[in-house]
Amino acid sequence: MREVTAIAALRALLATERSAGRRIGLVPTMGSLHAGHLSLVDAARRESDTVVMSLFVNPLQFGPGEDFDRYPRDLERDRVLAAERGVDLLFAPTVDEIYGTGADLRLSGGEVAARWEGAVRPGHFDGVLTVVAKLFNIVGPDVVCFGQKDIQQATLIRRMIREFNFPIHLLLAPIVREADGLAMSSRNVYLSPAERDAALALSRALRAAEARWRAGESDANALRQLVGQVLAAVPGVVADYIAIVEPDALAPVARVTRGTIVALAARVGRTRLIDNVIFGD
Ligand code: AMP
Repeated sequence: MREVTAIAALRALLATERSAGRRIGLVPTMGSLHAGHLSLVDAARRESDTVVMSLFVNPLQFGPGEDFDRYPRDLERDRVLAAERGVDLLFAPTVDEIYGTGADLRLSGGEVAARWEGAVRPGHFDGVLTVVAKLFNIVGPDVVCFGQKDIQQATLIRRMIREFNFPIHLLLAPIVREADGLAMSSRNVYLSPAERDAALALSRALRAAEARWRAGESDANALRQLVGQVLAAVPGVVADYIAIVEPDALAPVARVTRGTIVALAARVGRTRLIDNVIFGD
């Protein structure tokens, strides 16, 4: 695995790969890698020859009072995990390398970015789209892989690729979970043992909703109520939103069908967690 911090050095290496006819796959991350991130490397590998992982905690996507300063960072550990999993190029730039040319302009996620996560975290998705567009321009990937874990982010990137004509194929990788159902997240390290137990309410609520749907319930309000009840039954868990939506614009639906997404965010102690399920997957 080669590791680079400079854009110019990365571009020079990628030019060689491309002229040898290799397809480039990109896996954007904020580091603090876990098995979810590493599954994206496998997915990218299946459709490309050279896998680039970017590792960058993007200040633009954190709001005031969010956890930018305390977000977990461990480059040495990430380097070992990425190399073991077969990443070819690790791109770990500084904030200055990415934004030194200026950070005044932003891409805007529009209506879809204003919903759900965007309503709670104003400007978050504009920051995500801006850095991802920069990574697209820096790397020029044929394929990019994002996780279903951040379903609204993946939805917005699919729309950005379409609306801005990026010649990039998007892969959506399924959510990797701990054995007990908790969706893997770099933020899980914030949880105390008691909070870690309480956090199981999120995946439990989603499983309950899918089971009820499979048993014949298709009314979104009834399913939202069920999810709310499962979350509310656990002290210390406070739901932010329960979204029952269609996959293109994440607009609410009244009736649930195969492909409907149930996405939720909840606070467990001071930690904010998200999870979702795509019905029928
Ligand atoms: P992050 O480092 O949190 O920005 O995540 C980088 C990428 O990994 C995003 O595409 C996430 O959706 C994806 N990801 C994070 N957690 C998981 C998970 N548990 N399973 C699958 N993909 C994940």
